[in-house]
Amino acid sequence: MGLTAKGLIVREHNIGEADRFVTVLTDTMGVIRASVRGARRVNSRANASTRLLSYATLSLVRGRDKFIVDSAVPERVFFATGGSVEQIALAQYFCELFAALAPREEEATPYLRLLLNALHLLEKGEQRDRIKAVAELRLLAMAGYMPDLHACRCGKGEGARWFDPLQGVLGCDACRAAASVPLTPTVYDAMRFVLQSPDSKCFAFRLPDDACIALADAAERFVTAQLSRRFQTLEFYHSLSEFQF
Ligand SMILES: [Zn+2]
Repeated sequence: MGLTAKGLIVREHNIGEADRFVTVLTDTMGVIRASVRGARRVNSRANASTRLLSYATLSLVRGRDKFIVDSAVPERVFFATGGSVEQIALAQYFCELFAALAPREEEATPYLRLLLNALHLLEKGEQRDRIKAVAELRLLAMAGYMPDLHACRCGKGEGARWFDPLQGVLGCDACRAAASVPLTPTVYDAMRFVLQSPDSKCFAFRLPDDACIALADAAERFVTAQLSRRFQTLEFYHSLSEFQF
């Protein structure tokens, strides 16, 4: 039976001379794996619309262990006209992160919407640290890793300004865990805003660069501590800034 879904290609690799194998974050079926026969033939309509960072309407047929893309109509191709190395590296990290955390073969519209919004703002050239922090924090909260930013466990609300990325909790000066990072009031407020605002508003704030860097640092520590794994695309993204003069 044929199925239709909208989805963003989050991973691609080529097989043989003409075929492509893709991982797609779809609206109605979450993360699926699919093959695209003949995708790389020059005149294939499915070629551009099944590349990494393409968002397309896909007609799918369920195969034995994966789907087969019957046709793909492009809706939008992110960075089709290029982008900076940093922008594209960050977009690839988002793809790897969402592919790892979004549900498999079940409804995932909020995940897809968050990823599309993040890529849209990234392509527009907005502050990368802010987009990255929001994408990470919102994704983790959606996937069941919601940090508790209310008060320290001793009950102390005021002055509890250390964030423990391992436990996802706040600590005061007396109770904080060793690996905690300090949050200034500005960064703390931004973090709460990101986690509590509605989907349509979560990117809509401005921060000075230093606060934005601190927010992104706390968000990334939270991701890597909670998931206890490495992301090659994230390491590559950070390696880029080491070569700037
Ligand atoms: Zn305390």
